[in-house]
Amino acid sequence: MNKAYKYLIYPTKEQQTLLARTFGCCRYVYNQALNWRVAAYRADGTSISYVDTAKAVTQMKNNPDTAWLKEVDSVALQQALRSLDAAFKNFWNNKNTGFPKYKSKHRSRRSYTVPVTNNNVMVFDRAVKLPKLGYVKAKIHRVAPSDWKLKSATVSQDSDERYYVSILYEYEKAVRTIEADPDKTLGLDYKSDGLYVDSNGDCADMPHYYRKAQKQLARAQRILSRRKGSKKGEPKSRNWEKQRLRVNRIYAHVKNQRNDFLQKRSTGIANQYDLVAVEDLSLKGMSHRGKKRGFRLGKAINDNGYGMFVNMLAYKLCNRGKRLVKVDRFYPSSQLCQCGYKNPVTRNLSVRTITCPICGRTYDRDINAAINLKKEGYRLYKSA
Ligand SMILES: [Zn+2]
Repeated sequence: MNKAYKYLIYPTKEQQTLLARTFGCCRYVYNQALNWRVAAYRADGTSISYVDTAKAVTQMKNNPDTAWLKEVDSVALQQALRSLDAAFKNFWNNKNTGFPKYKSKHRSRRSYTVPVTNNNVMVFDRAVKLPKLGYVKAKIHRVAPSDWKLKSATVSQDSDERYYVSILYEYEKAVRTIEADPDKTLGLDYKSDGLYVDSNGDCADMPHYYRKAQKQLARAQRILSRRKGSKKGEPKSRNWEKQRLRVNRIYAHVKNQRNDFLQKRSTGIANQYDLVAVEDLSLKGMSHRGKKRGFRLGKAINDNGYGMFVNMLAYKLCNRGKRLVKVDRFYPSSQLCQCGYKNPVTRNLSVRTITCPICGRTYDRDINAAINLKKEGYRLYKSA
C-alpha cells in the first residue's frame, strides 16, 4: 500500500534558486524527449525508449550549449524522462490518457520527483533532507509510522508560491486477519501518572530520562515566566527571547523522547498480542482524571501521550492483521470483581486496593480494571 504525506517547506534563497532551475531543467528535458519521440515516429514509425532518451540527455550535458543541465539533480531529470515514458505507454495501451503533451512554462505544475535510495531523502522533526538541496526547513505536521518505507519525494511550488514536498511511503498491508486467541489478548487501563497498567499486572511508566527532561522543562518555563516580556502587553526582552528558545528546545526534546518511548512500547505490544482492549476515553474524561491526581504542570507536558499511544497501537495492530477494541467508557471496568460483584467503593479513585465483600479476594484496583477490559474486549470482539 502507498500513502503520501505532503509537507510545507521553507527553502532558503539559494535553495529557491536551485529549485527554480530544477523545475525548468526537468520541463526542458521532458519537452526535448517528447520532440525526439515525435520526430522518430514521424520519420520511420519507430519508437524511442527511455534508455535512448536518457543517453541523449547525457550527451546534452557534455555539449557546452546545454551543459547547465549538469547543475541540477540528474536523478530528477531521469525521473522526468521516465514519466514521459509512462505517458507514452499509457497512450499505446489505450488508457484514454491522450497523446503526451508539452509542458508549458506557465501552465504546467512546477515540480520534480526523485526516487529514494540510500537515505538521499530523510524526514526529520523540522526539516527534510533532499538530494542537491541538503536540509530544507519543513513543517512536519504528521509523522509516518516508523515501519513505512520512503519511496519517492516530489518537490513542487504551488500557485500561491509556497513550496511543498510530497513524500510517498510504502507499507505492508497485513496479508490475513489473525483470529484472536484469548491468551494473546491484553487489557490496558489508562494511568495518568504513567501510561497504563496491563491485565498481566505490568505497569508502563515513562522512563527516568523522560521525567528528568520534564523537570528541566518545568524549571526552564519557570525562569521564562520571570523574564521581562512574559506578562501580557509587556515588550519582549532579549533575555525572554533567549529563554523562550531554550524552552522550545527542551520541549522538542521531551516530545521526541516521549514519541520514541511510545513507538517502542506500541511495537512491542503489537508484536506480542492479537487483540488489545482499551477504555474509550474521551478527552474530557482524561483531563478530569488528570485533575484529580493534582497536576501542576502545563497541559502540554502533563499529557503523557496516551491518545497518541492508542493511535499507534491501532495502526500497528491493523498492519499485522490484528485488532484494537475500544470498550465503552461507561463500562464499569474498575468496579467489577472477578466473582461478578459490582463494588461501589471503587468509584473513589484514592482507593487503590480493594477487598471484595462477597468472595473475600483482595486486589489492585487498576490491574483488576485492566483484566475486566481484557475480558470485555474479547467478548466484544467475539460478538462483532
Ligand atoms: Zn469478588
